Amino acid sequence: MFENKERTDIALLGEFGLIKHLTENFKIRHESSTKGIGDDAAVLNFGDKEVLISTDLLLEGIHFDLAYVPLMHLGYKAVQVNLSDIYAMNGIATQITVSIGLSSKFPLEAVEEIYKGIELACNKFNIDLIGGDTSTSKQGLVISVTSIGYAEKKDICYRNGAGEGDLLCVSGDLGGAYVGLQILEREKLIYLENPNIQPDLEGKDYIIERQLKPEGRRDIVDLLAQMDIVPTSMIDVSDGLASEILHICQQSEKGCTLYEEKIPIDPLTYETARELGLDPTVCALNGGEDYELLFTIKQSDYPKLKHDVDISIIGHITDKNSGCKMISKSDVVHEIQAQGWNAFKF
Ligand code: ADP
Ligand code: MG
Repeated sequence: MFENKERTDIALLGEFGLIKHLTENFKIRHESSTKGIGDDAAVLNFGDKEVLISTDLLLEGIHFDLAYVPLMHLGYKAVQVNLSDIYAMNGIATQITVSIGLSSKFPLEAVEEIYKGIELACNKFNIDLIGGDTSTSKQGLVISVTSIGYAEKKDICYRNGAGEGDLLCVSGDLGGAYVGLQILEREKLIYLENPNIQPDLEGKDYIIERQLKPEGRRDIVDLLAQMDIVPTSMIDVSDGLASEILHICQQSEKGCTLYEEKIPIDPLTYETARELGLDPTVCALNGGEDYELLFTIKQSDYPKLKHDVDISIIGHITDKNSGCKMISKSDVVHEIQAQGWNAFKF
């Protein structure tokens, strides 16, 4: 995917030269970042707030395929998916560290593209880059992002707080990232068979973007605060709705009822899934990578968000013995099972 003509050998800069070159444009914006890049460790000060930390590791060939992921998107997505975990705690993300393992085939210009994406994400989501690590890799590209944020103790949402009768809510729409990935995979196969055929992605922008350029839902965290709602539990949808619902129910020791007809699916996701012979509901349940927020609220909070078009109420929490059920559009009761995307399948 990297076709830039210029190819500067990273060895010319050396490790320290590379770090300086990549990070010199990043500004520090938060008072909590006492010391950023440049010493043995960063120094942070959050006063009396609770501190939130989350890490992700992304490996070429396992989590991304450089055949169709542009490097800038990869940098952007690596940051977004990690910030999403802080938002899922109902927190405010403020800092990240970024560690990279680069194979020798990578020229400077390619790493610059990744950092452009990282910078875009930092600017858009108001994040300080405060450190990282840099190494060579023999096994393809490796990116690890750690994000740091904070919240008041009373605002933090764990997975284990759902109560019986609570409403099950989800932001945005689901299944798009998975269906977008199927389109990208299809075009990659066509390209490998005949490199003269241009990829046909026309009209599929929304779902391709859902796959390549997901956005952490900081806006939902802000919106909930404005509405004066603290969810009783929350999780981000990285592995598919089914898997995330089960996490909440298992950790809260509850059951749930989910209504298939209430699951928000964008029309393009729906049509494209059908075109590919896939069930749109299954894509939403098991696809993953949507990075929406799934949360539960007390029924008394319902009037505060019932008019919000970006939040769907898809079911409710029941007692543990009732199990986790989905009522299908034709009124059949199904047991919810997690078949989410799994990085351990070989
Ligand atoms: P050390 O030898 O102590 O690990 P490094 O030379 O790796 O130190 O890093 C020097 C500084 O640059 C540190 O502040 C580190 O956090 C930062 N840094 C290293 N690699 C990266 C990177 N890829 N992105 C951002 N900051 C980095
Ligand atoms: Mg180091």
